[in-house]
Amino acid sequence: MKFADLHLHTHFSDGTFSPEELAGHAQRLGFAALALTDHDSVEGCTRMAEICGAAGIEFITGTELTAEHNDTELHLLGYFVDTQDEKLLADLARFQAVRQSRIREMTARLNELNVPLEAEAVFALANCKSPGRPHVARALVKAGLCRSLDEAFERFLKKNRPAWVPKARMSALEGVELIHQAGGLAVMAHPGLNRTDDVIPVLVDAGLDGIECFHTKHSTATSARYLEIAGKFHLLVTGGSDCHGFSKGKPLIGTVKLPYEHVEKLKSRVASRRSKPEIPH
Ligand code: AMP
Ligand code: FE
Ligand code: FE
Ligand code: ZN
Repeated sequence: MKFADLHLHTHFSDGTFSPEELAGHAQRLGFAALALTDHDSVEGCTRMAEICGAAGIEFITGTELTAEHNDTELHLLGYFVDTQDEKLLADLARFQAVRQSRIREMTARLNELNVPLEAEAVFALANCKSPGRPHVARALVKAGLCRSLDEAFERFLKKNRPAWVPKARMSALEGVELIHQAGGLAVMAHPGLNRTDDVIPVLVDAGLDGIECFHTKHSTATSARYLEIAGKFHLLVTGGSDCHGFSKGKPLIGTVKLPYEHVEKLKSRVASRRSKPEIPH
């Protein structure tokens, strides 16, 4: 049977794997298709596409956006987006700039606590345009200011801890629109983690295409629940490991194996969307 992992991160955001390493693991595990979903970035997609091509793995472009609706945080996966789309690239560049200012705010707070970590040290370690808290945690450990990533989060970076700075979130409705205008499919990521059930009907009205029923942190019962919701709202079904490499313990790739039939359905949806002329509104 063919299967896919449609939720993966590399060092182009807060994962630790390079595209080469990720594709290597995927090949060893027998994946037929992969999607790269780095936070607020499509930068790794070109290399990932080349490497997957050489490895005989089908590659799907993607990104993961942090969004909100009525104060509920949710993550949106955009699949099959055109990675050259100007509006998408401009908006992603804006989110990336906000992420960089957030790092400066976090290090400023650490400095106030007499923890001498410089923003530049975080940027050097992150070496990507989409830095986040995991990079601050790694920089704290590297500088000998914390013994472990867990300690960094527990003492400083977790929600409501002294160096925590909330992350900028885009409107979920705008997120769906942004993904669509870049030719992609909009999918709600790991609904079981964000308690976003009330938002599903609202996003369905806005054109949500699918829902991530299978995720490492979804129990069998949770997946079953979202499969039922997908059926009810005629949503496509996706799934992925949300592997961040060695960022949080063991690499998660391989924990979710999405049957390939779901990839076929995603592809048919994209094809039918693209064959229809845009309806002006
Ligand atoms: P950010 O998007 O910058 O707010 O960072 C969120 C990332 O930090 C997610 O990938 C989380 O899984 C990760 N994270 C949150 N808490 C911890 C923790 N205690 N240890 C390691 N990573 C964590
Ligand atoms: Fe992440
Ligand atoms: Fe997420
Ligand atoms: Zn993710």
